[in-house]
Formats: sequence, C-alpha cells, structure tokens
Amino acid sequence: MNLIHITASAPLFTNTFLILTKAGHAVAIDPAADPAVYLCRIEQENVQLTHILLTHGHYDHVGAVVELQKKTGAAVYVQPEDTNNPPMFPLPSIGTAYPEDGILRIDELEFRIWRTPGHTPGSVCLYCDGVLFSGDTLFAGSCGRVDLPGGSAADMRNSLSMLSKLPLPGGTKVLPGHEYFSTFGEELRHNPYLLGEWY
Ligand SMILES: [Zn+2]
Repeated sequence: MNLIHITASAPLFTNTFLILTKAGHAVAIDPAADPAVYLCRIEQENVQLTHILLTHGHYDHVGAVVELQKKTGAAVYVQPEDTNNPPMFPLPSIGTAYPEDGILRIDELEFRIWRTPGHTPGSVCLYCDGVLFSGDTLFAGSCGRVDLPGGSAADMRNSLSMLSKLPLPGGTKVLPGHEYFSTFGEELRHNPYLLGEWY
C-alpha cells in the first residue's frame, strides 16, 4: 500500500494519512492538518483525492475535511453520530455513514470497517492491506479516553473485546490517531486494555 503519514501538529498532534491507489486516486484518513498540506501533496503526487475516511468526528481529526471536500468533491465517510455537535464534533452533515456490511472498495483497496464506539459514539476502526487504522479507540499500550462527551466505558470495553478477537495476523500494523505506531501482535501481548485487564 502506498501510504503517506502526515502529522497534524495542531491542535493535538493527530496522525493523519493519505493512501494512493494504482489508478491515481488518493484516500485521506482523518485529514486534520492545514488543507494546503494535503492539496500540495496530492498535486505533487499527481493524484486526485476521491475519498475522505474518518475514524471519528472529534475536532482534532476533521480540520481539513470541509475545505478538501469543497475543493475536490471527495466522498466523505463518517458516522452521523459524530457530526453536527460542536465544539467536540464540528463537522456539518457533508458525509455519509459507512456501508452496513462494513466493506468499502476503492480501486484495488478493500477497507474493512468495524464500529468501535466508546471513545465517541461513531468511532470506527479501518483495516486495509495489513494496516489497522485504529483512531482513538486503540493506542499503543493504551486506549482512547471515555470521559469526553459521548464517551462510554462500557462501549469501549465491548469494542476492545471485539478487536482483540479479530483474526488479524500479529504483524498487522496498528496506526492510532495519536502517538506511536505498533503491531496487532504487540498489542495483544502487552496492551492491558486490549487484554481485558482494565475492566
Ligand atoms: Zn478523539
């Protein structure tokens, strides 16, 4: 997978990504940096932004979405529970919910989407080609906060339990919304939240 990591330094050091497809399209995940950063990179790579996928709707994950959507017409996927509720969920209704069957195909890429409420009601984790984009649900050695508006410790427990049972290879990369990257195997061995020791 042709993956580009872009750190959005403001407001909260969010990990954001561009994935380039063989057909010359780009998929942005949680574009939260200055829109110009993505537009510039897309132009450099000579690709067209066609999709914006959000792991959740928190303000520190969506900063460039409206502008990018306006400039490129990209399709935006976000769970509606995570929109239209500023200041934490500032995104207006410009997106659509993920497909019910949890599968989204974009060119040669196949995304599997799992609903993982807990950090927010509309949180999802996305898997594609050996990489799990875990948003603010699963962090390296930790998990996302559940004490913010819309958060739920009970939902997070269920979501982490579900994630821990996914039949993903141990070498699957885990790319969270903040801080360090990890692997699924590493998290299954050492993350107390994923191991169920937190609840
Ligand atoms: Zn968040």
